Amino acid sequence: MSAKKDYYELLGVSKTATADELKKAYRKLAMKYHPDRNQGDKDAEQKFKEISEAYEVLRDEQKRAAYDQYGHQAFDGGMGNGRGGAGGFGGFSDFSDIFEEVFGRGFGGGGFGGASRGAYSAGQTGADLRYDISLTLEQAHQGFSENVSLRKSEKCGECQGSGAEKGTKASTCDTCHGSGTMRFQQGFFTLERTCTKCGGAGQTIKDPCKPCGGSGRVQKSKTISISIPAGVEDGTRLRVAGEGEAGMRGGQSGDLYVFISVKPHDLFVRQGDDIHCQVPVPMTTAVLGGEIEIPTIDGTKAKVTIPAGTQPGEKFRLKSKGVNIMRSTRRGDMIVHAMVEIPVNLNSEQKKLMEELKAANLSSKNDTHHPKTQSFFDKVKGFWDNFKG
Ligand SMILES: [Zn+2]
Ligand SMILES: [Zn+2]
Repeated sequence: MSAKKDYYELLGVSKTATADELKKAYRKLAMKYHPDRNQGDKDAEQKFKEISEAYEVLRDEQKRAAYDQYGHQAFDGGMGNGRGGAGGFGGFSDFSDIFEEVFGRGFGGGGFGGASRGAYSAGQTGADLRYDISLTLEQAHQGFSENVSLRKSEKCGECQGSGAEKGTKASTCDTCHGSGTMRFQQGFFTLERTCTKCGGAGQTIKDPCKPCGGSGRVQKSKTISISIPAGVEDGTRLRVAGEGEAGMRGGQSGDLYVFISVKPHDLFVRQGDDIHCQVPVPMTTAVLGGEIEIPTIDGTKAKVTIPAGTQPGEKFRLKSKGVNIMRSTRRGDMIVHAMVEIPVNLNSEQKKLMEELKAANLSSKNDTHHPKTQSFFDKVKGFWDNFKG
């Protein structure tokens, strides 16, 4: 295995770089080393391939995690089942895809690195976008909406996405006559490849629309209202159809994916649709019985009856006080864990009362007040008897 350069080093970013920082770093380097700007410069071309490969891996959360864990090996087929299959790490394809995603159709020419497989072609679907949102448990329970402002490519209003200047039209490519492919006869074989003139689009634009440079789309800020359903779970991915990047020259828009994470809560732990809460219970309440007041995820209070003789860790279930179940009118339960607390820092009067309790034969052997102790000592006795025998 040849020594490959570290992807983070290639892009000149730290291991903790955000998606935005990665994109910026790649954008800067790609501008510098793009083959169209360095005609015939093999070093630049090599460098461009390296940074594109690095960016293609690091911009993808899954691939990045694999790279962080296994390094380049993650993509060298050394991982057994990693390669090829659906969702696996396929080989690196045509970097024009990610380049186009980062820049839009800024650079002219028909792609690079041999026959483009139509990365710049008309009607190409726009890239998907990702938006991360972090909710509190209360927000996840109640549902949440937010207007987010995203800067992304939108259909060009001037040319309605066609890429051709107002009043003009794209014309059929005269090299491939609209098929997008070219055929060559070579001996017995007929070779077919993507048309180099139109990049497979089948159409060429004589007078490109000025605002969008012929791409049919422009960068714009757009406010999108994101509505997260009540009961959403940590790790849920929400798809907002059609709110990704606009497609090329009138192509379909990509989708926006909202990645939802739920922050840990100070009081509650969610398990499925249930809410668990560890509530301290004074020893005297546990002994004598009583009522305690607990907070609920709605922000209200609920009363829990603690029966006399409640043991540490004993659980009480409150029906339908858990989280809202997504797309349902039902709710999970709340489970209260009674954490019986032994009092500390007793004053002399309290100590005296405890002494009296002790003297009242409450904790001797053979009592009926400590069934667990009784059962334990019975077992211990059996254990010792076995040794003697
Ligand atoms: Zn336009
Ligand atoms: Zn053509």
